[in-house]
Amino acid sequence: MGLRVFSTYSRELEEFRSLAKDGRAVKMYTCGPTVYSYAHIGNFRAYLFEDLLQRHLELRGFKVHRVMNITDVDDKTIRGSQEAGLPLSEFTESFKRVFFEDLDALRIKRADEYPAATEERHVAAMIAMIATLIARDLAYQAEDKSVYFRIKNFPTYGKLAHFNLDELQSTGRVKNDEYDKEHVGDFALWKAWDEADGAVAWESPWGRGRPGWHIECSAMATQLLGEQLDIHCGGVDNIFPHHEAEIAQTEGCTGKQFVRYWMHCAHLMVDGQKMAKSLGNFYTLRDVLAKGYTGREVRYALMRVHYRAQLNFTWEGMEEARQALARIDDWLARLRTKAGEENVERLTSNAEHRTDAFADALDDDLNISAALGFLFETIRGTNRALDAGAVDAAAARAWLDWWQQIDTVLALAGEEASIPPEVTALVEARTQARLAKEWRKSDELRDEIATLGWEVRDTKDGQKITRRGAV
Ligand code: AMP
Ligand code: ZN
Repeated sequence: MGLRVFSTYSRELEEFRSLAKDGRAVKMYTCGPTVYSYAHIGNFRAYLFEDLLQRHLELRGFKVHRVMNITDVDDKTIRGSQEAGLPLSEFTESFKRVFFEDLDALRIKRADEYPAATEERHVAAMIAMIATLIARDLAYQAEDKSVYFRIKNFPTYGKLAHFNLDELQSTGRVKNDEYDKEHVGDFALWKAWDEADGAVAWESPWGRGRPGWHIECSAMATQLLGEQLDIHCGGVDNIFPHHEAEIAQTEGCTGKQFVRYWMHCAHLMVDGQKMAKSLGNFYTLRDVLAKGYTGREVRYALMRVHYRAQLNFTWEGMEEARQALARIDDWLARLRTKAGEENVERLTSNAEHRTDAFADALDDDLNISAALGFLFETIRGTNRALDAGAVDAAAARAWLDWWQQIDTVLALAGEEASIPPEVTALVEARTQARLAKEWRKSDELRDEIATLGWEVRDTKDGQKITRRGAV
């Protein structure tokens, strides 16, 4: 059976099929950060779910083209830049930089494109879409000079969220002066300039102003990926109103189904509440790294639970992540040692069959807990076989190849490869010193290695080098 994913639209598991003629290309859009401060690790749970999805699609042979937008203009970015006394672009630039550093620390694969909402070509596309919506009676300019989407003329509005229009409440992202709107659920497409916006404004047929948040994504997604996408993702809080609005705007313009599969991840929680800036109960990635954890440990901790299940963030969870990774590292170290030996026997390994079982688990709506369960069962089994001398060099190599394949999805490999040459040279010198029984020199070299941020441990298999503390 092929890949099946849970669609928020149908609320059912559906078989995944690419819209492309070749059946291989996948167009994927993921809502990105609003760059007014550091993203918190709840946000990164969403980005890690998307990363897992992309990597698994690629393991299955799909060719993914992914776009993630950067929201660099909204109330929060404008307010932040004013408080910092900086032009908007300068203010958001520093948070963009930090965002990319965090992505790298978490080993999240870069999207193909990161369009920013303030780029002129995108603002022009937003204005063009709004004009089309007005021409089709799907939008109107209100007395406050802002332009709103008219939800009563879009009969399927509410279908993604499974909402009844009459139940709609106003949400935080919509301006408070609702009296200008025809319906409380009508949302802003273009926000007329007011004094609080300072120097931030674009000219439009409806006067000076700035685009609403929802239209940004509709315009950038269609401009960069076309009118129809395979997959659109975000956290569950994006379902309404953001993604509902994206559907209304885009389909209102194109008359075609905008997205084939809508996928949303559950929240990262802290003490039973959603981790959110507004609640003040959040950790940034930097907060967690400052406690001595590595990006890879955070990656594991946020990824190990199925994306549709809520995940509670705890420090015990971080410790468990550390231990799980140590088990993987030790297993790989044992296999590497074994693989380096000459072949004396020809034992077979069933490693080839195992890639399928791992990927099959992920085919089931990204069932990562089953996939990881399978990995650890494999680790237990091969460790036992290693203890019993039932793994030879060829079998160990086959297991290492297997790991390499599944690690294209997990991206959890240790950092051995990135040991800097000066550290490798010191380790080699220490090996020589120990062979010559120069223990004092060996200890000095260990200290020297430590000052460079690495720890050397002597094990029965020789010296082991690990990174000390945070990355
Ligand atoms: P925002 O910057 O609030 O637009 O959020 C960026 C992304 O992170 C969106 O896809 C949100 O749905 C997602 N997100 C926000 N908070 C959480 C959380 N606590 N857990 C998981 N995803 C979240
Ligand atoms: Zn979006």
